[in-house]
Amino acid sequence: MILECFPCGPIETNGYFVACEKTKRAIIIDAPLGITEIALKNPYHFEKVILTHSHWDHILDLSVLKKKLNLPVYLHEADADNIRNPGSDGLGRNFPFEPVQPDGYLQEGDRITVGEISMQVIHTPGHTPGGICLYIEKESSLISGDTLFCGCMGRIDLPTGDPEAMWRSLKKLAKLPSGTVVYPGHGGPTTIGNENWMMHAKEQFG
Ligand SMILES: [Zn+2]
Ligand SMILES: [Zn+2]
Repeated sequence: MILECFPCGPIETNGYFVACEKTKRAIIIDAPLGITEIALKNPYHFEKVILTHSHWDHILDLSVLKKKLNLPVYLHEADADNIRNPGSDGLGRNFPFEPVQPDGYLQEGDRITVGEISMQVIHTPGHTPGGICLYIEKESSLISGDTLFCGCMGRIDLPTGDPEAMWRSLKKLAKLPSGTVVYPGHGGPTTIGNENWMMHAKEQFG
């Protein structure tokens, strides 16, 4: 597996390319501003765009990306309104992004394959209702969106936040193997083992 991280846009949001080494087939995870230009210069055969969630900083380039690369877009249904009607989540109304129709929905347990890579969708609401993580078991890797960062979790005080859902989601992630490398929506990677506060997040932050 090739996994590349590109911090882009006004608040350094990580867009990821996950590519199969053998087939060069790839997916794009999240669409921060500027990711399209990077994708256009890349040698991979991009197949789809997956969104970890629909906050403005993760979708600023989405309409351009979909148009220029002609890619289908997938996300959890509970986050879909904010790409069809940007700003409807109560955030980021000052950013001029065009509406995008999703091409399909992802839910807990779904499998996404790209070339020889297979990943599992883990529904992790709390930061947003339709937040997802992507778990690539064979590569011991997790793409965590804004649910889990190195040393902390995503914000739960925004209009899309739900603290109780976040505690449950973090407990779910804490059960993954401790050596799993976590690639978050902002900042550098960590591991599940480094984030052992997750089991007691409610007691600590609730
Ligand atoms: Zn977010
Ligand atoms: Zn973000």
